[in-house]
Amino acid sequence: MSENKSLYSVTPLIESKTIQNVFYKMECDQPSFSFKIRGMEKLCRYHLEKGVKRFVASSGGNAGYSLAYVGQQLGLEVSVIVPSTTTSFMIDKIKSLGAKVEINGDVWDEANIRALEIADKTGAVFVSPFDDPLLWDGHSTLIDECKIQMKKPDRLVVSVGGGGLLCGIIEGLKRNQWFDVKITTVETRGAASFYESWHAQKIIELKEINTIANTLGAKRITEKALSHAKDFQVTPLLVSDDEAVKATQLFYKETSKKVEPACGAALSIPYMHPEHFDENERVLVIACGGANV
Ligand SMILES: *Cc1c(COP(=O)(O)O)cnc(C)c1O
Repeated sequence: MSENKSLYSVTPLIESKTIQNVFYKMECDQPSFSFKIRGMEKLCRYHLEKGVKRFVASSGGNAGYSLAYVGQQLGLEVSVIVPSTTTSFMIDKIKSLGAKVEINGDVWDEANIRALEIADKTGAVFVSPFDDPLLWDGHSTLIDECKIQMKKPDRLVVSVGGGGLLCGIIEGLKRNQWFDVKITTVETRGAASFYESWHAQKIIELKEINTIANTLGAKRITEKALSHAKDFQVTPLLVSDDEAVKATQLFYKETSKKVEPACGAALSIPYMHPEHFDENERVLVIACGGANV
């Protein structure tokens, strides 16, 4: 068991071979295949220090998978409650890390209610996939690494689901005094919760999620994502599912790394929409990864 050594990796920063001035932060190289391990490690260690060893989450995606990974390494008891729509591929992957998986309900909201119930009944820590300051603090370490790995970029491109990654990135930018980095957020059209909220300047809850990039499918972003984003020059963009998928293929061709369409959304901007960049801009793209590939 690794008690003290970091479970997450310092990931490589690589320069694109096909597009000038574009740099990828390779979160797909994490042991859990996404940046989520950063936040999950922070969160688990915080509660473990207080003597809590039971954790329950409601994500059948990368949050549940990263939590299970950290739980196995730290000897924690992890339960993941998932809706019936979760693929057996992801259920088996999560189980293979020693976590318990329970199927409850047909949609995420139902699984989430069950997870909250279990947390309440058993004293386990309820783990949100994106809405916890401990997660943001953990995610922010990726910017500390970029600060060492590269000269300050002019722009950063990041996918947004519930906004946990965005919160972490902004906290990292602030801590490292990279205040004037422009931020381009990317979502697929069927999961435009940040885009809609940004334009309304208040939290908008989507009626439904309709995208192949199900990792981005949060109906509502965390409030903090919106308030943090107001401190930066932000451009919210939407892309099609096809563009997100196509970008995963181009990224595979370039790097031999498989990533989810959720990550493809961010990658599609340098590959397919360079018109959103200013001339000679140095662009940092967060290759957030994803285990469901
Ligand atoms: C979780 C996740 C996202 C979205 O992150 P949020 O914190 O929900 O905004 C994007 N890509 C991948 C691969 C993820 O696992």
